[in-house]
Amino acid sequence: MSARVLVVDDILPNVKLLEAKLLGEYYDVVTAQSGEEALRKVTETNPDIILLDVMMPGMDGFEVCRRLKDDPKTAHIPVVMVTALTDAQDRVKGLESGADDFLSKPVNDVALMSRVRSLVRLKMTVDEWKARENTASQLGVVDPNASVMTMPTDNGSILVVEDLSFEVTKIKDTLTTRDQHNVVVAESGIQALQAIGQNTFDMIIVSLNLKNEDGLRFCSHLRSNEKTRSTPIVMLGNDSDMPRIAQGLELGAHDYIMRPIDRNELLARTRTQIRRKRFQERLRANYEISLSMALTDTLTGLYNRRYFEVHLQKMLENARFQRKSLGLLYMDIDHFKKINDTHGHNVGDEVIKEFANRIRDSLRSFDLVARLGGEEFVAIMPDINTKLAHQIAERLRHAIADRPFNCSAEGGSLNVTASFGGTVVDPDQADPNLSLEILKRSDEQLYQAKNDGRNNVYFEGHGRIKPEDVVS
Ligand code: GH3
Ligand code: MG
Ligand code: MG
Repeated sequence: MSARVLVVDDILPNVKLLEAKLLGEYYDVVTAQSGEEALRKVTETNPDIILLDVMMPGMDGFEVCRRLKDDPKTAHIPVVMVTALTDAQDRVKGLESGADDFLSKPVNDVALMSRVRSLVRLKMTVDEWKARENTASQLGVVDPNASVMTMPTDNGSILVVEDLSFEVTKIKDTLTTRDQHNVVVAESGIQALQAIGQNTFDMIIVSLNLKNEDGLRFCSHLRSNEKTRSTPIVMLGNDSDMPRIAQGLELGAHDYIMRPIDRNELLARTRTQIRRKRFQERLRANYEISLSMALTDTLTGLYNRRYFEVHLQKMLENARFQRKSLGLLYMDIDHFKKINDTHGHNVGDEVIKEFANRIRDSLRSFDLVARLGGEEFVAIMPDINTKLAHQIAERLRHAIADRPFNCSAEGGSLNVTASFGGTVVDPDQADPNLSLEILKRSDEQLYQAKNDGRNNVYFEGHGRIKPEDVVS
């Protein structure tokens, strides 16, 4: 996994030391010697993780971190503060400014590398979802100002796997009273699995010092379990557990807390995890919603106008290339407004749905039908000739007009008709750049069908199609 690391420290030998260690692990390293330079380098080089010195003249590390986390464009980049400070209060100050972790100087190699690796891995996942969300937001459905820092951090659901009762009390008390989290406690792996079966957790705290089992093994189990695969895991351990904590981070645990537990640190680290998880969930959900919104219509499940316009161009290109004619058929339900006005909007929706089903069922398997909006639909019919196009259009007209529509209107059904306007495009005219004009030509035929009394079919160059001429 190659990634770019930005190392920030005002003292050159410190920069050089970290740079050498990271280059040895094949990371791409960028350096800065002040807060201002760091902010500039972030914009210029787009790093995957930042190792940030706290004590610097001018803008200190806390301030740099706060600025990065305040900007939606940089808020998702993990920041590890590298510091000589061991005071819990300073650690909390850093976490609250949005830092993802602390490393103390002199930096322990194992801790450094496992931390960098696990945070880079996390960022890659977020990057992937951000890229997809970005595509989605070009389609206009995503709030571009939301960032990981704007996610709520309270009211989470947290599982604590710990068998020391005084620790359980402390954790539960802190998380419940300060951030209104809902805390479930398990004293063993078995109990934890039962709880996981019954609930969905936003975060799991696992003790590495359980009396009867190996907490690390349990973490690894959580990573492979379908239901907890992406749930943040925070390990709980003593100073002497450092090598195992490093192993845990390699396995995919997200963070750790050292005993004795500092309440503020526990809260701050929990907030970071919950916030991140919610941000990822939001990215994913937005992506999925906008993908389906982007292509299909929710009422009928048909393709929507956006998809149709792109698809029509592609089909025109194919028609030209394969030397085959393409048919386009515009359809519109007759006096639909009256259905809405008389029976209500819900009945109108039922009619639209049933209309869509009948059209879909009456077309050939490779024809495509889209809902352009309201009660307007259009079908693309590849590889067609004039006679067949007329037949299909008549078949559709009958499919609507011949049988009443079952619906929740008074009496249980309604008679519905629709009008149709069609065009058959020769391969020579099949120009993708003219797709909207070709669509408009079908619409003009529809307009004539409406003017001529409705419940009929007009085709470009043919006028009104006589039903008796097209018996198949
Ligand atoms: P014409 O025969 O000339 O097509 O007349 P019409 O009443 O069908 O056409 P018009 O365009 O005047 O009215 C269409 C109506 O469809 C107006 C609009 O309120 C309604 N409508 C648009 N979208 C929906 C929808 O999703 N559901 C329902 N129930 N009604 C819709
Ligand atoms: Mg209509
Ligand atoms: Mg209309």
